[in-house]
Amino acid sequence: MTFAQSHLLGIEPLSPPEITTILDLADQYVDLNRRDVKHSDALAGLTQINMFFENSTRTQASFEIAGKRLGADVMNMAMQASSIKKGETLIDTAMTLNAMHPDLLVVRHPHSGAVDLLSQKVNCAVLNAGDGRHEHPTQALLDALTIRRAKGRLHRLNIAICGDIAHSRVARSNILLLGKMENRIRLIGPPTLMPSGIADFGVEVYDDMEEGLRDVDVVMMLRLQRERMDGGFIPSEREYYFRYGLDAEKLAFAKEDAIVMHPGPMNRGVEIDGEIADDINRSVIQEQVEMGVAVRMAAMDLLARNLRAKPREVLA
Ligand code: ASP
Repeated sequence: MTFAQSHLLGIEPLSPPEITTILDLADQYVDLNRRDVKHSDALAGLTQINMFFENSTRTQASFEIAGKRLGADVMNMAMQASSIKKGETLIDTAMTLNAMHPDLLVVRHPHSGAVDLLSQKVNCAVLNAGDGRHEHPTQALLDALTIRRAKGRLHRLNIAICGDIAHSRVARSNILLLGKMENRIRLIGPPTLMPSGIADFGVEVYDDMEEGLRDVDVVMMLRLQRERMDGGFIPSEREYYFRYGLDAEKLAFAKEDAIVMHPGPMNRGVEIDGEIADDINRSVIQEQVEMGVAVRMAAMDLLARNLRAKPREVLA
């Protein structure tokens, strides 16, 4: 078992064996979660605080359930209503919480790099639940587990990531993870939604779904991240759906057994046709949610093991 990290801030610092360690342990937690009694004491006695400075449905619920199933004392901070509104800085809030001796801090923040900064100020394990357009490591890990279970492997697959790549932390973390595991990655979307210099990441770039989807094993769709757009990136949602929305006609270019993924929240009729999203023979969107709980249990379990093994640094 290889896992030498003190925090889970992104996919970037993880080695392929560390990724495999998380996924292998997550497989065991999938089994636990399917039992009548879903309980382990891996985090018993530990305190987990969830700090979400940006809205979240799936991710926050998933981290909460994951911590509770492992026996942690879990607290959700309502950050919208907190001292931040009164002008306290992120670091002051973190230091205040740190003084209450949490063991795991789960943080989502609208600014890229904010979670990393926070991790340098506390002496507990920090998990990034999404920072700006930078990284969303547990999303990429749950996607990887979903792919590995559906395809029987996580290497040498042709994987298309489609839509608003430029504003997506999900795309970034997935490109890093799937690249480390030696898959062939294609990015498909309008040039206005492609980050500049993206071809340097060892990916193929397409602006046409028919060409890009040809013979892929996995089709990963992304939401248009309107909250991060500061101008007109697409002519209209109708036009976007016509050219880039996944429907049966476009999916027919992928392999016959290609799976369809989406991190949620989904905009039906914008980036994906509702019937495709609900097609249990093609869509693994519900499996992604299930894998999310297991992957978060595995990540917190591994971080807690490392936390227990090392003396905690005392902050200056
Ligand atoms: N839920 C994902 C995220 O937090 C994707 C999205 O919001 O579209 O990045």
